[in-house]
Amino acid sequence: MTTETTSASPAFVELGLAEPILRAIADAGYTTPTPIQAQAIPQVLAGGDLLAAAQTGTGKTAGFTLPILHHLSTRAAQASKPGRPRCLILVPTRELAAQVEESVKIYGKYLSLKSMVMFGGVNINPQFKALQSRVDILVATPGRLLDHMGQKTVDLSGVEILVLDEADRMLDMGFIRDIKKVLAVLPKQRQNLLFSATFSDEIRTLANGLLHNPKSVEVARRNTTVEVVEQSMHRVPQAHKRDLLAHLIKHHDWQQVLVFTRTKHGANKLAEKLNKDGISAAAIHGNKSQSARTKALASFKDGSVRVLVATDIAARGIDIDQLPQVVNFELPNVPEDYVHRIGRTGRAGATGSALSLVDDEEIGYLRDIEKLIKRSIVRVEIEPGFVPPAKADLMSDERPPRPPQGRGGPRQNNGQRQGQPGRQPQSGNRSAPGRAEQGKSASGGARPAAAKAAPKPGAQPAAHPRKPRPQAALFSAKPGSRGH
Ligand code: AMP
Repeated sequence: MTTETTSASPAFVELGLAEPILRAIADAGYTTPTPIQAQAIPQVLAGGDLLAAAQTGTGKTAGFTLPILHHLSTRAAQASKPGRPRCLILVPTRELAAQVEESVKIYGKYLSLKSMVMFGGVNINPQFKALQSRVDILVATPGRLLDHMGQKTVDLSGVEILVLDEADRMLDMGFIRDIKKVLAVLPKQRQNLLFSATFSDEIRTLANGLLHNPKSVEVARRNTTVEVVEQSMHRVPQAHKRDLLAHLIKHHDWQQVLVFTRTKHGANKLAEKLNKDGISAAAIHGNKSQSARTKALASFKDGSVRVLVATDIAARGIDIDQLPQVVNFELPNVPEDYVHRIGRTGRAGATGSALSLVDDEEIGYLRDIEKLIKRSIVRVEIEPGFVPPAKADLMSDERPPRPPQGRGGPRQNNGQRQGQPGRQPQSGNRSAPGRAEQGKSASGGARPAAAKAAPKPGAQPAAHPRKPRPQAALFSAKPGSRGH
């Protein structure tokens, strides 16, 4: 076993990486570079700028980390000073920052390079202390990095390589101004690597301003995860979703489920409800302390917590191999988020399953998503065994997201679309007649809906009578708000 795990794989040797890095890769058990690694590593080793289209789960982190470690360990460094990194990796979230830095440590374990992770929401003092020593690779979220720049506790004048990881998400989260402030203090002469899951116009603008004659690599068409993930949906009133989810988890005996909610409050309430029903669950979102988030994630990974309830931004970058089941408790109001969500499952060629619980008022979102992924999501009838709660109390956090008002408006920094006044609840039942919703069996053996069982436009499902909701209660929250 020892010889097997420590002998370097010829496919990685061919890429020309330094021996200590090859040894670490062998220890990690990697035998073949993933497509993004096969393409990106030679480009980064060649020294030029790079624009890479790659999603989480493709092996992109090693795609940039390995050649960076190679450069830093083989190139002569200027006299190192405390708190003056040679490589800066900017990422959108704390979770991703922690994961990227962990990868740096794993792949660099036989090198003498030093790395540090820096993000907000935690005490800044240990970071001050760490910056008083040598730091070769700094992995940071933009906000906390700016704090340190303001306090002059970090010196970015020695950065040789800059990475913007998940750049699309950083723009979605409104980090563009922070990024520009960071760019302004970096040395002009440096290598720039930009990784993004999607290439919007904003990303292209950022890339044009940042990269010089970049090589561009794209491992797979955008949104390819949708092809390996089995996707289905149940039509269900919002007020029945919590009970239905608890039922489904028990009925299918799902042992590891990642559930997405739209709001932080909704995530908490759902986790509470599941725990009450005897299903161990934890919530992660931006209001939780970093240690609570780390603990919840660790418990989910080691199986002691069965259900992790997360908001989109908190879940970004969660790396769990072979996560079998994702549930969209509510559909996201940004269709691209659906692709990110279901990308948590079906990784590395494994099959996965994504189930969406869709209230009538989310049909507009469903249509946007189906347009983006260019396929219909199979509609499956709820098993007869599920008995809807007798008293479906609709608290404000149980509202479905507000239906979109067309796709016209540009997005705001935080990913919301502008111009969503939408004060009138819509019937929501805008599903196109004849939409191919039947035909394929969903996860857990649920029955495909018969075409004739699909509700007619405007009709309410008889078993789930909907109470009229006062408009104030329906639209009291921030328009299109996204928890994180
Ligand atoms: P990433 O897309 O960087 O988040 O990586 C996704 C997962 O793929 C991580 O768990 C890595 O440990 C794993 N991984 C990265 N490169 C390889 C490889 N060449 N062979 C096998 N697993 C890999």
